[in-house]
Amino acid sequence: MHTDLVAALDIGGTKIAGALVDGSGRILLRAQRPTPAQEDGDTVMRAVEAVLAELSVSPLWAGTSAVGIGSAGPVDASAGTVSPVNVPGWRDFPLVSRVRRAAGGLPVALVGDGVAMTAAEHWQGAARGYDNALCMVVSTGVGGGLVLNGKLHPGPTGNAGHIGHISVDLDGDLCPCGARGCVERIASGPNIARRALENGWQPGPDGDTSAAAVAAAARAGHPVAVASFERAAQALAAGIAATATLVEIEIAVIGGGVAGAGDVLFVPLRRALRDYATLSFVQRLTVAPALTGTDAGLVGAAAAASLGRHGEAAAVVSSRS
Ligand SMILES: [Zn+2]
Repeated sequence: MHTDLVAALDIGGTKIAGALVDGSGRILLRAQRPTPAQEDGDTVMRAVEAVLAELSVSPLWAGTSAVGIGSAGPVDASAGTVSPVNVPGWRDFPLVSRVRRAAGGLPVALVGDGVAMTAAEHWQGAARGYDNALCMVVSTGVGGGLVLNGKLHPGPTGNAGHIGHISVDLDGDLCPCGARGCVERIASGPNIARRALENGWQPGPDGDTSAAAVAAAARAGHPVAVASFERAAQALAAGIAATATLVEIEIAVIGGGVAGAGDVLFVPLRRALRDYATLSFVQRLTVAPALTGTDAGLVGAAAAASLGRHGEAAAVVSSRS
């Protein structure tokens, strides 16, 4: 009989994944629904409730003591609300109180998806054993989170470490967030693909213009594709170096679809870090690919719930809202 389980929810713009996770991070049961992202808020919530209902009919539910949520952001963990960019029906949506009701009153912890991925990498992945780490997701957007002094550092609202919206190009292109030259505006998958197309790269007969297609072209030596990844690597390096200089991280872990480009990204990234991470105390910074893969959101949400339950991350627990 398992008695140390948490229910994890990973809420994104395309799917709502749920799981029961044990104390060593193993997933014992899964449930999933597509996100009805263009519907009204209550309809989206019903999909969350359906996932929880499917988990709670299991005999394992009796051993479940908390719920952890990793959600697309922005989130406000202090208020227990979420406003995911890709789910317009949810603006300041009271997700924590609604999930608590659906989960029979269990305590609920909420973090942003970047912080959840960071919790997963620190618990089970490439950041394991490091007391100071920056973990990043580079895909459609660029998100991240921090581990400081051996603990997840979600910040007051659950968004700390959001490296995608640090400006690394003061007069650069406008970012949807309102600033200029953000890391995300240069290094996200869509921006890698856009820059390659603008500079004359053409997709193959399949018409695939994704960053993965640009990565394949770069691997084959296409100079424009190589250059687009080098520019993305430069932006990531500048953001990582700034973070390392501020808080002395020992490792930067990079996951998400763009990290799947492998050496096409990591070789120029390590080279660019030598240009930007120049002070003695940041020169030994390690860069590593993420290990937790597609379950990072669920495992991280479970980690956040466990931290909250043990009183170590009170800011991410909104037990009264
Ligand atoms: Zn921005």
